[in-house]
Amino acid sequence: MAVKRTPFIAGNWKMNLDHLQSIAFVQKLAWSLSDAKHDFGAVEVAVFPPFTDLRSVQTLVSADKLALGYGAQDVSRHDAGAYTGEVSGAFLAQLDCRYVIVGHSERRSYHGETDEVVGAKALAAVKHRLVPVICVGETAEDLEEHGPSAVPAAQLEAALSGLKSDAEIVVAYEPVWAIGSGQAATPEQAGQVAAALRGVVARVLGEEAAERTRILYGGSVKAANIAAFMREPDVDGALVGGASLDIEEFSSIVRYQK
Ligand code: PGA
Repeated sequence: MAVKRTPFIAGNWKMNLDHLQSIAFVQKLAWSLSDAKHDFGAVEVAVFPPFTDLRSVQTLVSADKLALGYGAQDVSRHDAGAYTGEVSGAFLAQLDCRYVIVGHSERRSYHGETDEVVGAKALAAVKHRLVPVICVGETAEDLEEHGPSAVPAAQLEAALSGLKSDAEIVVAYEPVWAIGSGQAATPEQAGQVAAALRGVVARVLGEEAAERTRILYGGSVKAANIAAFMREPDVDGALVGGASLDIEEFSSIVRYQK
C-alpha cells in the first residue's frame, strides 16, 4: 500500500545569521508562515541554523509553540570526549533538535568527510534519536563521467550501511554543481535520481523504509521552480540554501502549489 509522505521544506542557513539575528528571523518567518496556515498546513517546515543559534531557536519555538522544526547542520560521530570543536548528537537532542544534516557537499569538500564518516554521523544521529538528513550528490565531472545517479547512489549506499531498517532518515539529493550556482537540475533529472535513491533505500533498508523515506531535492531551489520539483513523484520536498535566508522567498517556497 502506498504510504503518504508529508512534504518537507528545509532551510539550510549555512554560516549565516548569528543568534540575535536568528531570533528576529524565526519570529518573522513564523509570522509569515502562520499567515498562510490554510494553504501550507500540509507541509512540514524546518530550519537549520548554526550551532550557536539553536538554544535561541529552541526557546522561541517552545515558548510560542511554533509549527517549525529545526536541526543542526552537522553532528559528531562520537558521543562525548576529547574531540575539540565537535558537537555531540546527545547535546543536540537535549535542545530538542529533531533533525541534523549529514554529508553536505560543503562538509565533504572543505572538511574531507568521506562516505565512511558520513555513515558514522548518520548512525550517531539515529542513536541519539535525531533524524539525519543525508546529503548526496555528484560533481559536474561525475555527471559527465558517470551520469547523474551513480555517484549519489553509491554515496547513499555507504551512508546507510550501518543503519537498521526501522531508522528514520531523510535523503537530500543535491548535485554539487547546482548548489549556490543559480543553475538547478531539471525536475526530470531530480525525479530520476530521487527514484534511483529510493531504490537504494529499498535495497539496503527494505521496501517499507523506501516507501516512507522522504527524498528532497536541493540546489538553487527558489519560489519559481519549487512546484516543478514537487510534481515529481519521488521528490518529497526541498533542501533550500540561499533562498531560505529571504523570508518572503522561503515562505513562497513553502506555499508552493503543484
Ligand atoms: P542553494 O543551497 O539552495 O543555495 O543552492 C542548497 C544547499 O546547499 O543545501
